[in-house]
Amino acid sequence: MSIAKGYAAAAPKGLLGPYSFERRETGAHDVAIAIKYCGICHSDIHQVRGDWGGNIFPMVPGHEIAGVVTSIGAEVTKFKVGDKVGVGCFVDSCRNCEPCRMHLEQFCPSCTFTYNSHDKHGVPTMGGYSDKIVVDENYVLRIPGNLPLDAAAPLLCAGITLYSPLKHWKAGPGKKVAIIGLGGLGHMGVKLAHAMGAEVTVLSHSLKKQADGKRLGADHFYATSDPETFTKLAGSFDLIVNTVSDGIDWNKFAGLLRIDGTLVVVGIPAQPIPVAAFSLIHGRHSIAGSMIGGIAETQEMLDFCAERNIACDIEVIPMQQVNEAYERVIKSDVRYRFVIDMATLG
Ligand code: NAP
Ligand code: ZN
Ligand code: ZN
Repeated sequence: MSIAKGYAAAAPKGLLGPYSFERRETGAHDVAIAIKYCGICHSDIHQVRGDWGGNIFPMVPGHEIAGVVTSIGAEVTKFKVGDKVGVGCFVDSCRNCEPCRMHLEQFCPSCTFTYNSHDKHGVPTMGGYSDKIVVDENYVLRIPGNLPLDAAAPLLCAGITLYSPLKHWKAGPGKKVAIIGLGGLGHMGVKLAHAMGAEVTVLSHSLKKQADGKRLGADHFYATSDPETFTKLAGSFDLIVNTVSDGIDWNKFAGLLRIDGTLVVVGIPAQPIPVAAFSLIHGRHSIAGSMIGGIAETQEMLDFCAERNIACDIEVIPMQQVNEAYERVIKSDVRYRFVIDMATLG
C-alpha cells in the first residue's frame, strides 16, 4: 500500500477538497503511475453532483489521466519505468464476456470504472484528481512521444468518445458530419471528423465560438438558437453527434438528417429522450448511442492523433481551482478542456 494525495467530494453536490487514501501495492501485472495531469470531464461533474445516482463517497473523480510509469510488476511486458502513459474511464473488466472478447470492454457487465466503482476486491476505485494510481497493464494506454502530456490527457475520454462513433458511422470523405455542442467532447469531434476527411458543421447554441470552430477544422458553423438553422440545414447530414449535456429538441435535430442518417447520443442529459415516430420513419433515420471506446480503439485513437499532431485545446489549472472550474464548465465557459496540473497538489 502507499498513500495517495488527491481531491475528493465528501458528499453529493459537495465541494472538492484535499483527501488522502491508499493505493494498492503494485501487483505482478500492475503498472504504478505518477499522475502528471488529469482533465475535467463534464461526467465528473454529473457524478460528483449525483446526477446519475448510485454514487460512492468520498469520490475522487478523474478519468482523463496522463502520467509517467514509476514502477512495474514482475510480469509486466508492455511498459517500462519512465514511459508516458494514460488511463481512461475504466481500469478493469472480466476479460471473458462477449463485449470483452469483442474489445468493447466498456460494455462489460463487470467493467470497473476508474472512479465511483468497485474493483474486483470490492474496494471503491479512486480517480485521477490525485498524484498516483496503480492499474493492470492491460488497461493502460501508451501516449506517443510527440503528444504533450497535458493536452493529451483529455484524449483518454473526450478523444475516444468522439473517435469511436465517428469511426463506427464512417465519417470520412464525402460524408457530412455535424457536431452539436462545442465543449470538451465537441471540439475533439470537430478535430477528429476533419482529420478523417469529413465535411464538418458545428451546431452551437450561439455564434460566439464561430472563429474557434473554424480554426479547429469546421467547414460550417450555425447557431441552434436561430430557427432558420433548422430550415436551411434540413436533410443535410449523414451523421450528427450530440455532445450536449442538457436536453435538446431531438425531433428538430433528426430533421437535419439525410436519408439513412444517424443521430448519435453521447452527451448525457438527465431527462429521457422524447422522439416522435415520424422523426425516425420519415427518412429511415436512426437515433443511436455510443459510450467511450475499448482499450484497443483508444490506443488506435492516440496513435491517429499522434500521427496528425492532434491534441486537445486546454486551460491548465492548479488543483485548488477545481471547484471554480466546475462552475465554469457548467456555464460553458471553457476553451475547451480544463486540465489539472498535479504538481500543484503540493
Ligand atoms: P462540456 O465541455 O460542458 O460541453 C458541453 C457543450 O454543450 C457546451 O460547451 C455547450 O456547447 C453545449 N451546451 C448547450 N447547452 C448546454 C447547457 N445547458 N449546459 C451545458 N452545456 C450546454 O461537456 P463535455 O465534457 O464535452 O461532456 C458533454 C456530455 O457528454 C456530458 O453529459 C458528459 O457526461 C457526456 N459524456 C459522455 C460520454 C460517453 O461515453 N457517451 C463520455 C464523456 C462525456 P455550445 O456552447 O457550443 O452550445
Ligand atoms: Zn469523461
Ligand atoms: Zn467482460
